[in-house]
Formats: sequence, C-alpha cells, structure tokens
Amino acid sequence: MNERGALIDGFNRRISYLRLSVTDRCDLRCSYCMPERMRFLPRKEVLTLDELHMLALGFIERGITRIRITGGEPLVRRDVMDLVHALGRRIGKGLEELTLTTNGVQLADHADRLAAAGVRRVNVSIDTLDRNLFERISKRDRLPQVLDGIAAAREAGLKVKLNTVALKGLNEAEIPGLIAWAHAQGHDLSLIEVMPLGEVEGDRLDHYLPLDVVRRHLEQRWTLVPSEHRTGGPSRYFDIPETGGRLGFITPLTNNFCDGCNRIRVTATGQLYPCLGGAERVDLRAALRSQEPDSRLARALDIAMRIKPERHHFRMDRRGAEPAQPRHMSMTGG
Ligand code: SAM
Ligand code: SF4
Repeated sequence: MNERGALIDGFNRRISYLRLSVTDRCDLRCSYCMPERMRFLPRKEVLTLDELHMLALGFIERGITRIRITGGEPLVRRDVMDLVHALGRRIGKGLEELTLTTNGVQLADHADRLAAAGVRRVNVSIDTLDRNLFERISKRDRLPQVLDGIAAAREAGLKVKLNTVALKGLNEAEIPGLIAWAHAQGHDLSLIEVMPLGEVEGDRLDHYLPLDVVRRHLEQRWTLVPSEHRTGGPSRYFDIPETGGRLGFITPLTNNFCDGCNRIRVTATGQLYPCLGGAERVDLRAALRSQEPDSRLARALDIAMRIKPERHHFRMDRRGAEPAQPRHMSMTGG
C-alpha cells in the first residue's frame, strides 16, 4: 500500500471493493435499466484502456483487494480482455480477486480467456428462462446465447452466480422455477429489487416487487436458513437445504444495510460514486488527465472518502416520481 494508506471513509468503513465500469453501452435494453433509445456517451469521454489500468493500479495501491469489471455490458467493449489480462497479473500481488458482471450474451466467446486471465467467478444476469419473456424484458431475442454463455463459463471452470431482478407481473411466477434450475446446476442466485435509477419507458413502480413478498412465498415451499455469508453489499443470503443452493436477497429498498458497506463505483468516464444511491461524486478522469496524475488521483480518493454518505435514501413509493438519481444503473454497473 502507498504512504497515503488505506481507503477509510468518515464512518470508519474500510473500502476494499471497487466496481469498475468499462462502458455504458449494452447489447440488451432491459426495460427497468434503460430506454430503447438510450443516449450513450461519446467515446472520447470514456476512459482509455491505459487510463482504466492506471486507475485500477492506483486503487490497488490504496488497499482495494477486489475489483469487479462491469458496465453497461463489459463484454461489448472490444479491448476489455486486455484490461482483464493486465489486472489478472496483479492477482496475488495486492489484488485478491478479479470478477465480472455480464448479461451473458457474449460470454461463450470469452469464458476460456477469462479463466486463463485468473478470473474465478462471474455474475450473470438472467431474469427468465422463457424466451418470449426474455425478449419482452430485454427487447432482444438473446436467451439462447445467454444460456450458452452460462454453460461455457461453467465448462471453463468459472463459478457462476446468477442475478435476477424480481419483476411484478413479469417473472414473478417463475422465480421458484428459476431458483430450482440455477441450484440444480450448481449456481447460486440472488434476487434484486428494482431501483429508481435513470429514466426508462414506463413507470418502474408497475413492476416493483418487494422481496419480502417473494421471500414469504418461497418459505411456503422451501426452508430458508439464514447464512453467515456476507459480501459487504446490500445482500443477505439463505441456504436452501432442499435445493442445496444459496439464495441472495438484494434489498436496497425494503432494507438498508449500509453500515458494513465496503464498496465504491467508478463509471466508464472516471466518475467515482461513493454511494450507488447518492449524487456525491469525484472526477477521477480530470485527475488522470492532469499534469500530476498520481498526486491528483490520491487527493481525489481522499475526498471520495470524506463525502461517502452514511446511507442511501432510495424510495419506491410514488407513482410517476422522478428517479432517485438521474443516472442509469448502466453508468455505475451492478
Ligand atoms: N450488463 C451487465 C448485466 O446486466 O449484468 C452489467 C451491468 S447491469 C447494470 C448490472 C446489474 O444491474 C444487472 O444484474 C441488472 O439486472 C441490474 N440492474 C439494472 N438496472 C437496475 C435497476 N434499475 N434496479 C435494479 N437492478 C438493476
Ligand atoms: Fe444492459 Fe445490464 Fe442494463 Fe440489461 S441490465 S440493459 S444487460 S446494462
């Protein structure tokens, strides 16, 4: 670690986990995430591969031990594997773990190379196993590619965790089947509550499904045994003896688990958001593109630690309300 030391925020939380977005672009258009006519960033605003690499190394110097590459869809960025390879060389040298969150569409083409670079786990988002519903939710007919991607990842030896956004009136009835399918293949699955981030077509409240409702429903079918497993995020986990798998509930709205938050997020343009639900941010790109990138970056990280809020203030209770934050989840990644 460098002389400025570990990243510790104003509430004495040690920040050790970075979610690094490499693009805001995507090959799907999940209706809860972005509109069909999403306006993407001009390429010159996006950090170059060298800048992303330099940034990640700067974070590792300050005690970040886990990096998750995300997006938008990280695998649509052509040079993303160069970054994965470069960071893979730091595993065991400051970096403990390098992971990726993907929609799985292009995973089959990348799974072997991810494993060769040192990635051991990937998160794949999948909201349904029904091809028509998949197309309805994501606006693209890509379920077969996603399933191939999941299978390829498993064959490459990657541990696959699945993420499913719970959507009232869409995948609601399918959730138990999806969990049973995932666990039968050895994949843990986490359910996510829809969050009010960025404008989309329609009102997210129409499909907002609080996970306590889902949980009560699942408890009629299975035993949900609270697990000690923690990741420092807003997830709580349960083991299901009947399926032999683990089920996560990511409940930023119905529960607030900010006390143990260990993470920060950086967008593809180098904006550091210390809280997913907050507007606070620090411009790391300006630091990186300055005459003194090292010292400016170090100072920017110190500022980020001072402004990380104690907790988020998401709400999802007013029809037609503005999103809690104008930026989409595809900016800061999952
Ligand atoms: N494209 C990749 C994917 O879908 O996994 C990575 C980025 S995506 C923004 C990361 C995660 O955020 C996905 O699991 C997605 O379902 C979730 N997500 C997107 N928008 C969301 C929202 N408004 N509320 C809750 N989860 C959201
Ligand atoms: Fe793309 Fe992921 Fe957003 Fe879906 S959730 S539109 S896959 S960034």
